[in-house]
Amino acid sequence: MTDATGTAPTFRPILRVIEGMPASDGAGVRLNRVIGQPTFDNHDPFLLLDEFKSDQPDDYIAGFPDHPHRGFETVTYMLAGRLRHSDNKGHSGVIDAGGVQWMTAGRGIVHSEMPEQEDGLMWGFQLWINLPAAEKMKPAAYQEFDRTEIPEEDRDGGTRLRVIAGKTSQGTAGPVGDVTTAPTYFDVTLPSNGRFEEPLSSTANGFVYVYDGSLVVHAGSKSSRIETGNLGVFGAGDSVQAEAAENGARFLLLAATPLSEPIARYGPFVMNTREEVMQAFEDMRAGRL
Ligand code: MN
Repeated sequence: MTDATGTAPTFRPILRVIEGMPASDGAGVRLNRVIGQPTFDNHDPFLLLDEFKSDQPDDYIAGFPDHPHRGFETVTYMLAGRLRHSDNKGHSGVIDAGGVQWMTAGRGIVHSEMPEQEDGLMWGFQLWINLPAAEKMKPAAYQEFDRTEIPEEDRDGGTRLRVIAGKTSQGTAGPVGDVTTAPTYFDVTLPSNGRFEEPLSSTANGFVYVYDGSLVVHAGSKSSRIETGNLGVFGAGDSVQAEAAENGARFLLLAATPLSEPIARYGPFVMNTREEVMQAFEDMRAGRL
């Protein structure tokens, strides 16, 4: 494929494959932690990626009771099940299968995220995206979209994209807007041996996270196979070329502009300096979040 100027795309190679790490968070929710673990602390501006998937209530029923956030955005995307959230500013609701909550924590909130179900499958992702220094203390804000508000793009051969943020080469635009790091967040389904090609801004940091099946990413003579539960970190280039294995593939395609700022991180607070993190703890103790 060539673009309008006739320049051939430069396909991004996979630099590293990151294996998710089994972890427990909240009051005891079992999850696969992919970004934000010892071997892969962050991928600027991405700070954390968790996948939770279980049909055993003991794995999720305890949920995430009241806890704070400051300095970044949390993006919760559900594939199955229901998650109820409620914050100390009076904002609450339910994130249903196929829906997304894009929460800009900004200067801070205290909230809970609890399963709105007692049994059955709960499956979803939480992604943390950093905010630039100038926006870390802005007021908290929400962008929430249910399943029907997330556009889907069907391509030849049975490929389907759900577009949460960013815009595809065919013009499908996601509903999330007003984010300085200009994120792309696509949920892609490829049939058996299905092929996928898409431009991806050369100035963005990007990755794929495979949550079902297997994906082979091609870049010239280099091919990298990524299995379920693993993440592939993209190197330099302006496009992505990939192919599902015989069992098909479902994956998240993420990209965003790096901030290149110092990261001072402690639990639910991600700031630029240690002093700012200490201040966040003080503000939490004083009830100022
Ligand atoms: Mn939270």
